[in-house]
Amino acid sequence: MGGFLTSFMRNRQICVTDFSFPLQLASHSRCRMRCSVLHLLRCVRLRLCSRRGRSRLPLWAQRIQAYIKLLAQSLCFNSLTDSDVVFDSIFEPVFVTVDYVTRWFGMVFVCLVVILTSSVVMITYIVLLPLALTTYSPAWIAWHSLYGNWNLIMIAFHYYKAIKTSPGYPPAEKNDRPFVSVCKKCIMPKPARTHHCGICNRCILKMDHHCPWLNNCVGHFNHRYFFSFCLFMTLGCVYCSISCRNMFLDAYNSLERFKHLDSEKPGIPVTGMGLLLGLLPSGQTNFQTPAPPYTFKEKMFHKSIVYMWVLTSTAGVALGALTVWHAVLISRGETSIERHINKKEAVRLAQWGKLYKNPFNYSKLNNWKIFLGVEKKSHWVTRVLLPSGHPPHGDGLTWDVFPVKRDLIAV
Ligand SMILES: [Zn+2]
Ligand SMILES: [Zn+2]
Repeated sequence: MGGFLTSFMRNRQICVTDFSFPLQLASHSRCRMRCSVLHLLRCVRLRLCSRRGRSRLPLWAQRIQAYIKLLAQSLCFNSLTDSDVVFDSIFEPVFVTVDYVTRWFGMVFVCLVVILTSSVVMITYIVLLPLALTTYSPAWIAWHSLYGNWNLIMIAFHYYKAIKTSPGYPPAEKNDRPFVSVCKKCIMPKPARTHHCGICNRCILKMDHHCPWLNNCVGHFNHRYFFSFCLFMTLGCVYCSISCRNMFLDAYNSLERFKHLDSEKPGIPVTGMGLLLGLLPSGQTNFQTPAPPYTFKEKMFHKSIVYMWVLTSTAGVALGALTVWHAVLISRGETSIERHINKKEAVRLAQWGKLYKNPFNYSKLNNWKIFLGVEKKSHWVTRVLLPSGHPPHGDGLTWDVFPVKRDLIAV
């Protein structure tokens, strides 16, 4: 029995449903029995405790349960609860997930921009340039070379600067700068025009938005680089789209013809890129019988032109709309976030019969001069039409408010 008890004490994995065990103990002395019963009760308690622990919900489920409980309590016992608070609270997990995914995919988007832009540049240099050199006049070659390369340099410069330049953060140490509110997440003073970015998880000076294509926030110090990148990328896409339009139509028609080449019957007219590529002998563009075979190189030539035209046209339209929208906002002296705030404020004041005036709107021309950093006439060339790394106007912490001097910069 002693051996049994020893092994029993060592091994706590005893099964509590083993009813023969107390019966065995009853045949021994009372003292030993009491001792054994005590052990048994302890084991039963341990066993039950471990069972209760195993039946607990997993950590993620406990968190969801706690969140739902907190959500319900904060909505029920909050005097400031309105439809906005309810919507924000319910969709908070969705916003957090979107922020997480955007943060994670940031580098993927940047690589995508670099790969797609590089592919268009490679097609231009490898496929189109040799063709242009043999068919275009010297004046057209000079124009395409100058404009195309200038546009490419402007795109690359502004994209690199937009990614690498910090948007600007409020100072972390104690200071006596004026502030308008306190960030609930950073627990830090927020200067005017500063907003918290959920993806970067910090406050951004004059925040416009978080751009996944840059994997960076657009704020006070890189807003100009972002806008210039959008503008020059749009110009580049429109330039490629217009320049290659006729080639695209020829290439598309040729691909369509190649597709049905086997089933093509004698007597069907053959025109277009076939002559340009030397596919067909000169003077035999009509009623060629039978059609000559096409090579892999020719097929790739046509496909690359079609790919380039479709990509640049689509990107040109999408980016063009974005650029126009941001140009309107800059003209009004507001950011994407301030657009919503100002709109709301205008509606609120209109109810009281008052007119809302954006305090950071210094008039259209001055807004552009401040945004582009133009301080004298020559800056329109050196700072706008050429790559320039000059810092923006002001430190992003304090702002002049309207009304300011009418002609802020004498240009
Ligand atoms: Zn913050
Ligand atoms: Zn951000």
